[in-house]
Amino acid sequence: MKASKMLLSTLKEAPQEAQIASHILLIRAGMIRKLVAGVYNYLPLGLKVLNKIEKIIREEMDNSGALEILSSAIQPKELWEESGRWNKYGPELFRFKDRHEREFCLGPTHEEIFTNLVRNEIKSYKSLPLNIYQIQTKYRDEVRPRFGLIRGREFIMKDAYSFDLDEKGLDESYQNMYHTYSKIFDRLHLNYKVVLADTGAIGGSESHQFMALSDIGESNIIYCNCGYAADEEKATCLDDIYKNDAQVENIEEVYTPNVKTISEVASYLNVLEKDIAKAVLYSYNGKPSMFLVRGDRDVNVVKVCNALNAAEHEVYLTTSDELNKYHLVEGFIGPIDCNIDIYVDSELANMKNVIVGGNKIDTHIKNVYLKRDVKNYTVIDLKDVKDGCLCPLCGKPLKSERGIEVGQLFKLKTKYSKAMKATILNEKGIEVPLVMGCYGIGVTRTMSAIIEQNHDENGIIWPLNVAPYHVVLIVINYDDEDQKSLADKMYETLKENKVEVILDERDAKPGFKFKDWDLIGIPLIVTIGRKANENIVEFKERRNNLKEEKNVDEVIDIILQKIKDEA
Ligand code: ATP
Ligand code: MG
Repeated sequence: MKASKMLLSTLKEAPQEAQIASHILLIRAGMIRKLVAGVYNYLPLGLKVLNKIEKIIREEMDNSGALEILSSAIQPKELWEESGRWNKYGPELFRFKDRHEREFCLGPTHEEIFTNLVRNEIKSYKSLPLNIYQIQTKYRDEVRPRFGLIRGREFIMKDAYSFDLDEKGLDESYQNMYHTYSKIFDRLHLNYKVVLADTGAIGGSESHQFMALSDIGESNIIYCNCGYAADEEKATCLDDIYKNDAQVENIEEVYTPNVKTISEVASYLNVLEKDIAKAVLYSYNGKPSMFLVRGDRDVNVVKVCNALNAAEHEVYLTTSDELNKYHLVEGFIGPIDCNIDIYVDSELANMKNVIVGGNKIDTHIKNVYLKRDVKNYTVIDLKDVKDGCLCPLCGKPLKSERGIEVGQLFKLKTKYSKAMKATILNEKGIEVPLVMGCYGIGVTRTMSAIIEQNHDENGIIWPLNVAPYHVVLIVINYDDEDQKSLADKMYETLKENKVEVILDERDAKPGFKFKDWDLIGIPLIVTIGRKANENIVEFKERRNNLKEEKNVDEVIDIILQKIKDEA
């Protein structure tokens, strides 16, 4: 491709709203343009990269035995009512009506569609196992679309759904996808960790996420050198056995005038924050519940949602009106003589002599032992796990690291097949629900994650196999006969060898051209200048920026070898 014929739209500056490297560079390099918040158009260079990422995903999915289909983004309400998600999914779902007032949504994910498809197409266990996938546009009306392609309202996902006869089959399908995802992200040269994950709005039991490591990642990964790794929403830790063996003392009411927060109580009573129980109230359907953790811990909202069996958008911090209605006194709420549901973090359940709110103004209660003093409560894991907490597997201190979720695997089991009556006849002729898994990769988000891990102050550094082009030939002066003839010859030779090459014959200052290609991130850069008459050119790899003068034939050999090694 000749540079003068390309739609090159590099910019010196990105708009203010672009805060992270990938967002800034995708815009500055002329790869994407914003249409409205969270919705982008892909320009030729950006689309080339996207196509290459998709190609790698497609190759590995096909290798795994999965079959590609393409379904519509438009999904009828009726299928979502069958699964029970029409009301559950909340404001992230783009909903609309057609001219006949029939309701639809734009698919944020496709469990309903694929379950429906398979229940209509497959009747016998002999067709199993089956894994079908698509690479398709998804829609989610995110509260905070941001970071360019990392969190869009329209984005491209590879979603796959496996169907098996039993859980053993699902285990194999899941493992197959786990390995396939590892191969995909290895081929995309991402530095990633696989972590245990919560199942969120998709549902099901077991789940793993693939996290590209990056400081700008929105996920917090909790991990240990022993191999334990989990998303913070899912992470657990060993309970601290603080005050488990203490002598239980008599319960005692203490006057704490206007002393409300954990730190205020700790300093007023001259105790540690961890001597106090922190009560956080969340409501669901107008009904508050109490969540108790040790005073130095935080309550994990995802664990709250799981306890209430509610979606995250359905749960909120209890309002003042609701507190009044249930006679709860803000700042002094505790589990004793309280008329709402109580959930207690496992760590607190065994602790002796805890300080809790007294459920009346300016009052706390000392020396509480929940097992002795509170009648009804449920013990669960509620606490937020942070670095320094103890690993649930080996007991050593956990560490944390930020990651970009590029993919997730779920064992759905029979959640959708039972709800939607997707059954099959087994070997004995008995009708059983299909056992399902689902597997997503954020294709456009992955494109951003690659940039987050591969850039410098001058621009993007694409790995060779996803770069929009392999090589650029920068001609210093295309009016010079020697330079022109060498450049043209090299261009033709590379093209004949299926190298994706750009010839930059533009009439522009060399510095301007160098800047453009460094920004766009072309991996191999050849400069053809004064020594063209000696067949000598300058060769540079974008990744290390080392420039070397070499003979043209040698440079061609290096380029071909590098492309061969990548394949
Ligand atoms: P997140 O927690 O980041 O909102 P999710 O867990 O809701 O994502 P999934 O339902 O697991 O997302 O979707 C599969 C994949 O699609 C994710 O792993 C992610 O890579 C990608 N993805 C999800 N939401 C977006 C989005 N708004 N923009 C771009 N990619 C997304
Ligand atoms: Mg996810």
